[in-house]
Formats: sequence, structure tokens, C-alpha cells
Amino acid sequence: MKTRIGLGHDLHRLVEGRPFLLAGVHIPFPKGEEGHSDSDVLAHAVIDAVLGAACLGDIGEFFPPEDPRYKDADSMELLRISWAKVKSMGWRLSNLDCCVLCEAPKILPFREQIRSSLAQSLGVDIETIFVKAKTGEGLGPIGEGLAVEAEAVCLLTNAEP
Ligand code: MG
Repeated sequence: MKTRIGLGHDLHRLVEGRPFLLAGVHIPFPKGEEGHSDSDVLAHAVIDAVLGAACLGDIGEFFPPEDPRYKDADSMELLRISWAKVKSMGWRLSNLDCCVLCEAPKILPFREQIRSSLAQSLGVDIETIFVKAKTGEGLGPIGEGLAVEAEAVCLLTNAEP
């Protein structure tokens, strides 16, 4: 049985007039992530974690930001596509642990919805996934509310030789 750890990280500026999305869950807030796709920062970190664990590449190679096809793209759909590719190579998700860093809004009231959304997209039980949130303690771009950051770590197993 092979095992692999994957690490994903992402950051987006927070700007007015954009939805604040975490793993497809829309959190009411005056600002949201700026970017080419829907810019779901947590979905992007998870995509990089699973692609990285399988040595397949990264989100920028799979879904180039300059490609007009990915303008306002649903990042959870990009996650499903990425995971299908990883899964087709025999990999199974043992667990996924995530951290979201932002000064506001509060993430805890949405945590179960976010876990459930990720579990559904990855075809696993909710107990396979956890999501935590941290503030920037008022420091730096996170603390000043200028950006939101996400980190994801996954463990994949593969029974194939
Ligand atoms: Mg991104």
C-alpha cells in the first residue's frame, strides 16, 4: 500500500462585489475573493493538495488562469475534475485537513456545510474531512482583512502496485 501526503495553499484578495466562497459555500459578507474563476480559495488549496499528492501537477497547469474557459469557473467543479483524475490512478482519500485564514467573517457557523460540500465533491464520508479557521490577529494582509488564505493537507493511499 502506497501512501502520499499532499499540500495545498492559496490566497486571494478580498474585494467588494464578489461572493465570499469556501468550498462552494456562499458566506454572507460585503467582500469576496478576487480572481479569474469564482476564486474559491479553499477549493483551490484542496485541488493543489490532491494533485500534488499524486504528482500530477498543479491547479495553474490544469486550469490556466489566462484561459477564457475558466472565467468565473465553478471551482468545486474543477475540484471534481481534478479528483476524478487522481482517483482514476487508484488513489483513495484517507483524510483531508484544511485551515482557512481570514479576519472576518466567522467561519465556524459554516464549518459543517463546508465539510459536507467537500465530502460530497470528493465522494467520501464527512468524517474524512476537517476544516478549521484562524484570524491574522490583526496583522498583515490577513489581519487587515485584505486577503483570505487557505491551506490543505491530504493523505492518499493506493493499493495498486
Ligand atoms: Mg486561487
